[in-house]
Amino acid sequence: MGRKRKRIVHIPKKRLPKLFSCPKCGKETVGVKISRETKRAMAGCSSCGLNADFPIKPAQTEVDIYCMLTDKVFSSPKKNLVSNTPKNT
Ligand SMILES: [Zn+2]
Repeated sequence: MGRKRKRIVHIPKKRLPKLFSCPKCGKETVGVKISRETKRAMAGCSSCGLNADFPIKPAQTEVDIYCMLTDKVFSSPKKNLVSNTPKNT
């Protein structure tokens, strides 16, 4: 008995970044928080205040949430994305 078992230690090299680049302001300040209990995820940028939350599926990860956020930003109508429009009325 004894020492046959070799311990293989897996060191995950690919760690997910905790912060993503913001599709709106371009800074790496987008954090994603997944709540498996409520099956929702929140993504928010601490720089420009962009944020959204999504219902998630169990298989989805931070990256998926981030993709949904970028999709939302790029596909959304000009509703919440009003940039500095000059008041020329
Ligand atoms: Zn931002």
